Amino acid sequence: MDVLTDAEARSVLGSLSREQPIMVLLVDDQIVVGEAIRRALIDQPGIEFHYCSDPLDALSVAKKVRPTVILQDLVMPSVNGLDLVREYRGDPVTANIPVIVLSTKEEATVKRDAFRIGANDYLVKLPDTIELVARIRYHSHAYQMQIQRDEAYRALRKSQRELLETNLQLQRLTNVDGLTGLSSRRYFNDYMEMQWRTALRGQYPISLLMIDIDHFKQYNDHYGHLAGDEVLRSVADALRRNCKRATDVAARFGGEEFVIALPLTGAAELEHLAKGFPALIEKLRIPHAASTVAPWVTISVGGASAVPDQENYSGLLEAADKALYQAKRAGRNQAAVGV
Ligand code: GH3
Ligand code: MG
Ligand code: MG
Repeated sequence: MDVLTDAEARSVLGSLSREQPIMVLLVDDQIVVGEAIRRALIDQPGIEFHYCSDPLDALSVAKKVRPTVILQDLVMPSVNGLDLVREYRGDPVTANIPVIVLSTKEEATVKRDAFRIGANDYLVKLPDTIELVARIRYHSHAYQMQIQRDEAYRALRKSQRELLETNLQLQRLTNVDGLTGLSSRRYFNDYMEMQWRTALRGQYPISLLMIDIDHFKQYNDHYGHLAGDEVLRSVADALRRNCKRATDVAARFGGEEFVIALPLTGAAELEHLAKGFPALIEKLRIPHAASTVAPWVTISVGGASAVPDQENYSGLLEAADKALYQAKRAGRNQAAVGV
């Protein structure tokens, strides 16, 4: 099972506790502004600075440098700063990087436009160093926190998905018999209980077949246990193929015994169905030299049908078992139906 590995868990936890460096990208065509801000940040611990003087390079530089905050000049000769902000927002790599717009003057409509297209803050050039650093730290930390949250959330989703898959796999394993691929006895019991309750409520008929391979001990003794397993598979396949309705469920009851649940099936229909099964297996012509019944593998079948009048189906199971015993006593390779 591949839930979040130790290394992945450590990396998520590590990134949550570790202080990440702040990376500032300034995009401004004026070299003097670039120099002034470089000087303002040079002594600041944990803050790295990258300067881009050509706005035409801004997006590709931002994608390479991966800043935690972008300081964006508004008025440049070749490009409008607001158009650049729009470009950052349109690219998945830069879409969430905080952008502080740098303007030459305090102007409400420009501020409004900047915020509208996705800027996070607005400063008038040249800002006071204390305020500039405070805003850089605030936006960078918010961005780093968001990245860590996203990462932790992704890891959590991954392990949840894997857990769900493992549970489904486990469920399949308990519901299916490993050797034959038929339903397990446990699944059969749950299914019968549910169908029995439905039949009790609606007073519908419900039937059950119990099937046992004849002289199977002799088969194993004569051909070996592995060959015996092969017979179990072949018989199971034939039974499954003969379950015509979607609600019919064939299961391995244990050893060389099988059961078939037949909801909405009355006594007359059951009798007809039960009689067909021995012929079906005989037709497979699986050699069984040690059998006293036939030169090939045969089965005996016991059936029972009821319109439920009690809470559990154990009576139906007993009746089918009794009928199976009758079929055995009467010479095997045949079906008997009880009440
Ligand atoms: P009957 O006609 O009266 O049913 O005789 P039988 O020999 O079939 O019945 P019995 O209950 O005496 O023997 C059942 C045999 O089924 C014994 C056991 O070794 C065999 N068996 C049970 N489970 C498996 C299995 O998973 N694989 C194989 N190869 N044999 C199994
Ligand atoms: Mg048996
Ligand atoms: Mg048997």
